[in-house]
Amino acid sequence: MLARRSSPSHHTTVAIAGVPVGEQPLVLIAGPCAAESEAQLCAVAESLASLGVRLLRAGVYKPRTSPYSFQGLQDEGLELLGSVKRAYGLGVVSEVMSVAQLESAYEVFDCFQVGSRNMQNFELLKALGQARKPVLLKRGLAATIEEFLGAAEYILAGGNAQVILCERGIRSFDPATRNVLDLGAVALLKRLTHLPVIVDPSHATGRRDLVLPAARAAVAVGADGLIVECHPAPEQSVSDAAQALSLDDLAQLVAETAAVAQAVGRRLPYPMERAA
Ligand code: PEP
Ligand code: MN
Repeated sequence: MLARRSSPSHHTTVAIAGVPVGEQPLVLIAGPCAAESEAQLCAVAESLASLGVRLLRAGVYKPRTSPYSFQGLQDEGLELLGSVKRAYGLGVVSEVMSVAQLESAYEVFDCFQVGSRNMQNFELLKALGQARKPVLLKRGLAATIEEFLGAAEYILAGGNAQVILCERGIRSFDPATRNVLDLGAVALLKRLTHLPVIVDPSHATGRRDLVLPAARAAVAVGADGLIVECHPAPEQSVSDAAQALSLDDLAQLVAETAAVAQAVGRRLPYPMERAA
């Protein structure tokens, strides 16, 4: 099993657009659930720049429960994301749901996100195994750890060693939070695999007031970083509005998780390193 850790010192670092994931400093990936407009993406990019965050998340191909909901800007969104990425010098992390999208998005995305709903889309995983770019693999809605690692194995077996795992909460009986953030799984994955493990506190909780405490807990339990949804006008987000942080909230999250990172011997390298 290529995903398994062979010894306690076996760690893999995956670089997204030159930003290392899996090293001592934690990584923060932030941005809206979906790319909506140039103004929206530029406002987010300005905030990321002021915090020194270099990786932007923004979906252009959105997996929605209803076929009548906004499906993302699709191929038109690629152009928009490409121009914002170039203007601000950001790396882009964004979801692909099919092999065809992978091919269209190749030039614009620096890291292909596999969403929860596609964690076991084996043809997609095989195609990503052939890709020479990082993959952010999100845990399926009700996937066991074995299934999660099996999905990672498909990508690794194809010859792509650049896999990052993401715990984003699992389904439970209780709708009080959108999902249940499986912090034990994060600690376990860090034991079982050499791959970087990050946490998505936004989809895990589904509520903006819970994103910060969940992020603090994720850092405390040993995650290698966070992927967080934010929006210049959170209530107006076309998707996942309830969990979107404002840009001020994002700055607060950076400040508060930095203290937790320090307590567990890690460093959140924002915003301090911007000046360096
Ligand atoms: C997302 O990141 O916007 C998303 C759809 O996430 P997940 O696949 O974890 O639901
Ligand atoms: Mn979302």
